[in-house]
Amino acid sequence: MKWIPWVLAVAAAGYCLYWLLRVLTHGGRTRRKALRIKMQLEQVWAEQEGVSPERPILVDSPSVVEPKAESANCPNCEHPMRVVEHTAETRAGRRLRVAYLRCDICGDERALFFALKK
Ligand SMILES: [Zn+2]
Repeated sequence: MKWIPWVLAVAAAGYCLYWLLRVLTHGGRTRRKALRIKMQLEQVWAEQEGVSPERPILVDSPSVVEPKAESANCPNCEHPMRVVEHTAETRAGRRLRVAYLRCDICGDERALFFALKK
């Protein structure tokens, strides 16, 4: 009967090790999946028009810049972004409208570039 506590101790240690490995591997998988989703959202953002002065979004009027800019979602958390500033700047020898955006959820800041149709 002396062996019963030893058997229980070994079983408890084995269960703890099993639980720990399960938590660690599941956490790693979740982190990798979150990182993959973040990279995909960043790629979608980078491929859209307006993210660089070389590929601005063409608009008819400056009054549509802010509504169009605020239709963009944050590439980090997919929350709609808010225009914090709307300026007219010369970039790459071209007069552009620039909407500076901020995400109220994660604080990410981006700029979208617009050009007026001639
Ligand atoms: Zn965000």
